[in-house]
Amino acid sequence: MTRYASVPRTTATTGALLLMTGPMFAGKSSALIAHASACDGGVLVLKPAFDVRDGVSLVSSRDGSSIAALPVSSWPAQAASARTLVIDEVQFLVAPHYDGDIVDEVLGAVASGQKVVVGGLDTDYLKRPFEPVARLAGHAARHVRLTARCHVCDAPACWTAKRQETGRRLELGCDELYEARCDLHWSPPDAVPAAKAGPHRSARRRLAAGVSR
Ligand SMILES: [Zn+2]
Repeated sequence: MTRYASVPRTTATTGALLLMTGPMFAGKSSALIAHASACDGGVLVLKPAFDVRDGVSLVSSRDGSSIAALPVSSWPAQAASARTLVIDEVQFLVAPHYDGDIVDEVLGAVASGQKVVVGGLDTDYLKRPFEPVARLAGHAARHVRLTARCHVCDAPACWTAKRQETGRRLELGCDELYEARCDLHWSPPDAVPAAKAGPHRSARRRLAAGVSR
């Protein structure tokens, strides 16, 4: 009976990269948490140490789900022993917040037989691609593009918009700073002083766009 126990499973030696991209508010973290939770052990969730919005050692989603995660600023030694790696907010794993090349490290893990599930923003608030995400897309066995709902018209939204220009590309924030926008309603942020950007600014934009909701 025991002689069969040492036979390796085919899936244990076949690495693969699953990439989940989309704008903010698209449910990427929720999808990653669902993947990690469905794994039958051997999963390690990584998050940028830079991203402290959910607590230092937790990935949380807006639907209320959460999972323990290892905050990293370089590739962790623990990654080698995981069957599945789940990485959230990969666009933040770049200098000065990360020491290393996350793309090379992910591809190395895949080559060694690990399954790697990566989530991240495909573009920033000016529609500029995030380099690690663009590079990973060229290697993903499966690439899931998630959409959010436009903050103005509720249509499917592929873009992240910033409420006000802060001059920072890698900037933590939620709906006080960012919105999801469709093709019709995306625009670059206005260079208005922060003091003038009050809580009713979205409503003003909706009115300006001729939308009544
Ligand atoms: Zn819209």
